[in-house]
Amino acid sequence: MSGKLAVVAGGGGFIGGHLVGDLLSKGYRVRSVDVKPLHEWYQVHEGVENVVADLKALEHCHAACRGADEVYQLAADMGGMGFIENNKALCMLSVLTNTHMLIAANEAKVGKFFYSSSACVYNADKQKEANVVALREEDAYPAMPEDGYGWEKLFSERMCRHFREDFGLYTRVARFHNVYGPFGTWDGGREKAPAAMCRKIIHAKATGDHSIEIWGTGEQTRSFMYIDDCINGIYKFMHGECTEPLNLGSSELVTINQLVDIVEDIAGIKLDRSYNLDAPKGVNGRNSDNTLIQKHFGWEPSIRLRDGMERTYNWIAGEYNAQHGTSVEPTGTGITFANA
Ligand code: NAD
Repeated sequence: MSGKLAVVAGGGGFIGGHLVGDLLSKGYRVRSVDVKPLHEWYQVHEGVENVVADLKALEHCHAACRGADEVYQLAADMGGMGFIENNKALCMLSVLTNTHMLIAANEAKVGKFFYSSSACVYNADKQKEANVVALREEDAYPAMPEDGYGWEKLFSERMCRHFREDFGLYTRVARFHNVYGPFGTWDGGREKAPAAMCRKIIHAKATGDHSIEIWGTGEQTRSFMYIDDCINGIYKFMHGECTEPLNLGSSELVTINQLVDIVEDIAGIKLDRSYNLDAPKGVNGRNSDNTLIQKHFGWEPSIRLRDGMERTYNWIAGEYNAQHGTSVEPTGTGITFANA
């Protein structure tokens, strides 16, 4: 193979697994690196150099970046609200991975470096109301991000900036807003709301227990970006001119109750809802202001939540059935996935 060498750090994860597939389809040679044993990777693509290594260690980052033209740094110890609110130190330790990957990429003189930041960098004071004004990039300062995870992301964003300004490393940063889709975490405690809702509703169908617990009041608002939009965006950011961190998220705002409505509709079921007000629920409202991404790329994520959730639901139904020996039917769209 003769294409450029792209390194995907965190390639065994949800977004990384999709990104590896996309880069392969674009003709890249790909090295995918993740700390998890290979059998736990969401996707293992053929024709890829798959490496199991802990990128908190500088020597592993040097090995990962050797000969690379482009580096996509997605590796992070993270999960949904249930995980990040209860594991702040673990989240902050990702600073080792980000620091060492920047040092190694700089020393290896890689051509381009992408870093996946998060909407969790935004000032909490801007997210107190469910009836939100969408977050603009400037709302990250003055800094008061999500404790633990958000602080680490904001710090690492700035490291990217200073490696660019001081050392001339080409860096690009996107602030992802809630990404969802097939081949991601759907149980075990690290899953995010869209996957959790699918699993709970599939479980209700499988067991006949038609009740669902929702974290918080259900009136919190969020936007959710389907994985294909995210992958499309990463490529645009990496090869575009904009050096500042920009939002990469959907601006289709829903309440968590509306998200449940959508999944119930997909599944053809109505459940009795209960609300756990003590559960981690994150900020009251968050949406992505897409003025700047539109200005720079003439593009923004646009896959409708209903369409993306249907694909996600079908994939999780297949996973759930394989794990529990059940036979919850996918929806009638014909959109199915080959489950592991
Ligand atoms: P994920 O957990 O599925 O993938 C992250 C991967 O990084 C995992 O496979 C994990 O094993 C790997 N990893 C963690 N520590 C590592 C280490 N020390 N060395 C090597 N690999 C390591 O998460 P994801 O949803 O694919 O997220 C990818 C990136 O996007 C992360 O940086 C995350 O913070 C960011 N992000 C994701 C979302 C989202 O909604 N999914 C939102 C905002 C930001």
